[in-house]
Amino acid sequence: MSLIAKLISLIALLGFFTFLAVHVAAYAGNARPFGMDPQLLGLGIIVVWIPTVPTFTYLSRGSARKDSWKVALRGCPVWMYRLCYGVLGYVLLNFLAFMLLPVDAALRETAEIRLISGHLLAFYFTAFATMHSLAEVSQRKFTRRCIDAHELEPSHAYCSKCGAYLDRDD
Ligand SMILES: [Zn+2]
Repeated sequence: MSLIAKLISLIALLGFFTFLAVHVAAYAGNARPFGMDPQLLGLGIIVVWIPTVPTFTYLSRGSARKDSWKVALRGCPVWMYRLCYGVLGYVLLNFLAFMLLPVDAALRETAEIRLISGHLLAFYFTAFATMHSLAEVSQRKFTRRCIDAHELEPSHAYCSKCGAYLDRDD
């Protein structure tokens, strides 16, 4: 499972960098940096989101809604978890800029591509982090114990006996 998760997380990371290039090119006025309609490249998101949605549900099960991201991404290093919020924050700003700032008709196409590629950056990055988290937690070999010393399954975030939450191991 961890090998497949790693592979999907790599595809998602590749998608992230592809759309980072599309996004930057759109700022520079280039609507087709790869010589093709970026919407076609966007279909790749389906490939990574089909496994990401159930993975997120699996990793965050038992958590309160407000903690679900923290719990699902517990296998990620802290910087990656924070970068997720950074990317989501940027996408919100990108969206607001598109809605609020006037766009010259001639620049409409690149402005739309900036908007769409911005959203795709968030989708690809969260998919990358979720699959990376799964790869990490399913690889854990050592025994984890809750504060009452009950043993936890490697992929579990919560103690099945007392319900205690076990955060990152580091
Ligand atoms: Zn316990």
